[in-house]
Amino acid sequence: MVFVLDKQKKPLMPCTPRRARLLLTRKRAVVHRLSPFTIRLKDRSVRESALQPVVLKIDPGSKTTGLALARVEATEEGEVHHGLHLAELIHRGEEVRERLRKRTGYRRRRRSANLRYRPPRFLNRRRAPGWLPPSLRSRMGNVLTWAGRYQHWVPMVRIDVERVKFDTMLLQNPEIAGIAYQRGELLGWEVRSYLLEKFQRRCVYCSREQVVFELDHVRPRSRGGSDQVSNLVLACHACNEQKGNQTAAEFGHPEVEEDARKPLKDAAAMNATRYALCEALRSLDVPITTWSGGRTRWNRDRFGVEKAHCLDALCVGELARAKSGRHRTMAITAMGRGRYSRTNVNDSGFPTGYLMRTKQIMGIKTGDRVRAVVPAGFAAHGTHTGRIAVRANRQFRLGKVQGIPARFCRVLQLADGFDYAIVETALHV
Ligand SMILES: [Zn+2]
Repeated sequence: MVFVLDKQKKPLMPCTPRRARLLLTRKRAVVHRLSPFTIRLKDRSVRESALQPVVLKIDPGSKTTGLALARVEATEEGEVHHGLHLAELIHRGEEVRERLRKRTGYRRRRRSANLRYRPPRFLNRRRAPGWLPPSLRSRMGNVLTWAGRYQHWVPMVRIDVERVKFDTMLLQNPEIAGIAYQRGELLGWEVRSYLLEKFQRRCVYCSREQVVFELDHVRPRSRGGSDQVSNLVLACHACNEQKGNQTAAEFGHPEVEEDARKPLKDAAAMNATRYALCEALRSLDVPITTWSGGRTRWNRDRFGVEKAHCLDALCVGELARAKSGRHRTMAITAMGRGRYSRTNVNDSGFPTGYLMRTKQIMGIKTGDRVRAVVPAGFAAHGTHTGRIAVRANRQFRLGKVQGIPARFCRVLQLADGFDYAIVETALHV
């Protein structure tokens, strides 16, 4: 779908690419932005337009966050969510962590080389309450940035976020625990999500990972074992079958019985970043509802949706049906906006070279989306479109193509800290 703005740059309902093309050729609209493609109508204001409620749905992840914009249709069974836009936001948390770790190394070297006689100072740093590591703050910032951008492009009425992996309240309710955790029920999915976290996605008997897990009763039901969560563990199919009618201790794993009785600590259930994200999203002045991962998995199973970050996002929250429509997914990769440090150093922390003092070369900076039409006779001849990397010698790099002369480059979209690509997602419903 194409985002549509009115003449005052207020959001209208997104339209199909076909309609956008018509509006553009009839000169009723202009291109407002390339990625994601947004047009601005020249003759319409939001007051003359009928808007439908759009909800932003977020499935936060450590490497990739799923984002989905859906039109809400209220029916008797509940809300039906029609996907308008699907995106995967790829974070650079690991890179942030790695760069800071390196910086620590360089500083440590300089300290020991230059200030050997200074008395040691340590344990003299204080962290503000609510402090988050920079890598996590970067992830949080990415999501917040995009929620804010979407707010400018669609009439957003609500944000649905998956805040916890499982609903602790539901699991701890003694009236519910012990009955109906079966597959297909919401509680069953909450229990499964809980056990996946508790046993760190491993078979408790053989420690295998990346297999389909089954719920295993430590003491089998046929021998009086209960359906309580404290009697359930994760096992792979092979182990579960082999164990059969034995208790875990008889199967040779007495430690499993003990592990199963220990509840998962609340701290592990409560992800600090997700919590901080929800707090930060409140600054956008849009109502926020928070949900559990168990519910997302339950919805995905009910609707028969494939596993993908953006489709997971579409399944967040309380809804009767989700229809993703025939959209391709946009991959949004966080690229950063350059760095302050002007010194390049080698692995041992010794300076090897110095970077430019200015960011722009002939009005172009690294990260700008550029079209370069290089005539024949140059090594990099041909037409190139994409994210440019500028060089002081005016020979730029675009992807794997080196030596693109700056004078042949035309900026299509200014750098905004992200790179964009369209990816094919698995089958949609
Ligand atoms: Zn196993």
